[in-house]
Amino acid sequence: MFDLKQFEFWFIAGSQDLYGEETLKQVAEHARIMAEGFDAEAAIPGRVVLKPVAKSPEGIRKIFEEANAASSCAGVITWMHTFSPSKMWIAGLALNKKPILHLHTQFNRDIPWASIDMDFMNLNQSAHGDREHGYIYARMRLPRKVAAGFWQDGDLRRRIAVWMRAAAARLDGERSVVLRLGDNMREVAVTEGDKVEAQIKFGWQVNTWGIGDLAERFNAVSDGAAEKLVNEYEAAYELAPDLRNPGAKRNAVTGQAKIEIALNALLEGERAGAFTTTFQDLHGLPQLPGLACQRLMEKGYGFGAEGDWKQSMLVRAAKVMAADLPGGVSFMEDYTYHFEPGREAALGAHMLEVCPSIAAGKPRIEVHPLGIGGKAAPARMVFDAAPGPALLATLVDLGDRFRMIVNEIEAIRIEEAMPRLPVARALWRPYPTMREAAESWIIAGGAHHSVYTGALSAEYFRDWAEMAGIEFVLIDRDTKPARLREELRWAEAYWSAPHRGP
Ligand code: MN
Repeated sequence: MFDLKQFEFWFIAGSQDLYGEETLKQVAEHARIMAEGFDAEAAIPGRVVLKPVAKSPEGIRKIFEEANAASSCAGVITWMHTFSPSKMWIAGLALNKKPILHLHTQFNRDIPWASIDMDFMNLNQSAHGDREHGYIYARMRLPRKVAAGFWQDGDLRRRIAVWMRAAAARLDGERSVVLRLGDNMREVAVTEGDKVEAQIKFGWQVNTWGIGDLAERFNAVSDGAAEKLVNEYEAAYELAPDLRNPGAKRNAVTGQAKIEIALNALLEGERAGAFTTTFQDLHGLPQLPGLACQRLMEKGYGFGAEGDWKQSMLVRAAKVMAADLPGGVSFMEDYTYHFEPGREAALGAHMLEVCPSIAAGKPRIEVHPLGIGGKAAPARMVFDAAPGPALLATLVDLGDRFRMIVNEIEAIRIEEAMPRLPVARALWRPYPTMREAAESWIIAGGAHHSVYTGALSAEYFRDWAEMAGIEFVLIDRDTKPARLREELRWAEAYWSAPHRGP
C-alpha cells in the first residue's frame, strides 16, 4: 500500500563564496557523492535529491520556496560542508514548511595526518560549520532532528531512515482523511479532542460520515463478490471447522466480507487513510465490523474503535513508518492484568479489532456472540501476538496541546490456553516495571487505546511528534514515575511559553 520511493528528501550542502571556485566545486562534488550514496542505500527509504550548494541568502531562500511547493518533498536535509554563515539561512528557514534533518557529518572519515594542510581544513570544516548552522535553528526555535556521525556509518543511516519514515508518515497525513463512521462513544472523555487543532498540527482532515453511507454500500454488495472474498480468507487464514459449510456462522463471515468490500470502497472514494467505527451506531449493518476492520488494518488503513480518531490516525502514521519492516502495527487496548509476583504482565486485546500484522502464527477466523452492541455474532480473526520487543503509543488532547505517550514493552509468549476468550490478544511486560509503567502512563493521562507495534522504536514516534510540534513523553527502562511527574509539571511551563523551542 505504501511506496516510500514516492517521497523525496532534498539534500542541501551549505557553503559560501569566500573559499573560491575550486573549493566550491569540491563541495558540490562531495555532496553529489553523498546524495547518490544515500539514494542507493537499501536501508534508506524515499529518494534523496541533490540541490545546488547553498551559498547565498537568495539561493537558500529559493530552495526552501521550491521545497514548500513540491508536493512530493517530504523533508529537507541540511549539512554544512564548510562554514556557511547562518544569517544567510534566516529567510529560507523562516518560510520553510518541511521537516528538517540537520545532518552533522564530514565527507572524510579520517584526518589525513601526513598531508593535512590549511586547504584541507578550509574544505572539511563541518565540525564548526554545523555548529553555526545548529545555532540558527536553536535561535529561531525551529523543530528539527540532529543526526551526527560519519555519513557512511550504518547507525547514522539508520537514524536518517527513521526520520525519513516519520516524514513520509507526516506527508501522508497531510494528503489524507480520517473517515469517522458515527461519533465517539457516548460519555468517553479520552477519545474526544479538537479536530480542528488536529488538522492544523498533523494535516489530517478528521470528518464524519453517517453509518447509512456504509449500510447503503453494504446492501449493494453481491453475494458472489462476498463469496469470492471469503475464498481469499480461506487461502490466507484458517477457518474454524463450523465455518466451512453453509449455515448461520458461515453467513456471518460472508457478512463481514460484504462490510469489508463496502468499507474499502467508501475509504477509497473519500481518499481516507484511516477510519473509526462505534458499536453504538451500527444501523443497517448486521454485525459490528470485526474481521472487516482487521483486514483493512492489515491492508494499511488506520483504525480506531469507539470513534477514537486520534488513535486511528496514529495507527495509519505507524503503518506508513513501518512500511516493509517486519513486526506489524495494530490498534490495541490495555485490557486486564496478571499480578503474579515475578511474572507480572498486561493482556491487551480489543473486542474484535486487532490487526493480524502482529500475529505470531496463522490467524483463525471464528464466529462468536458479542455481549455488546446488540447485533449478530460477528466474525473475527483470533491469534496471539508475536513475542519480542514492542511498544505502545497513544495520543491524547490536553485541551491546550496534544501529548504523545510511548511505553517500551516486551511482548511475551502466551503459555496458557484461553479457550473461552476468542479474540486476538497480546501479552506484554512493560518497561521499566509493570507498576512503574502503569503509574507513569496514568500520571501522563495516557489513553486505554493505543498503537501497538513490534516494527518501530520510540525514535520514530519522537521524530514524528517533533515534526507535528507536539509533546512527547517516553516511558522506558530509565523512567521513574516521581521524576516523570515533575517533568510533566515543568512541561506545562514550556508548552505555555510564547517562544517554545527544541
Ligand atoms: Mn475500546
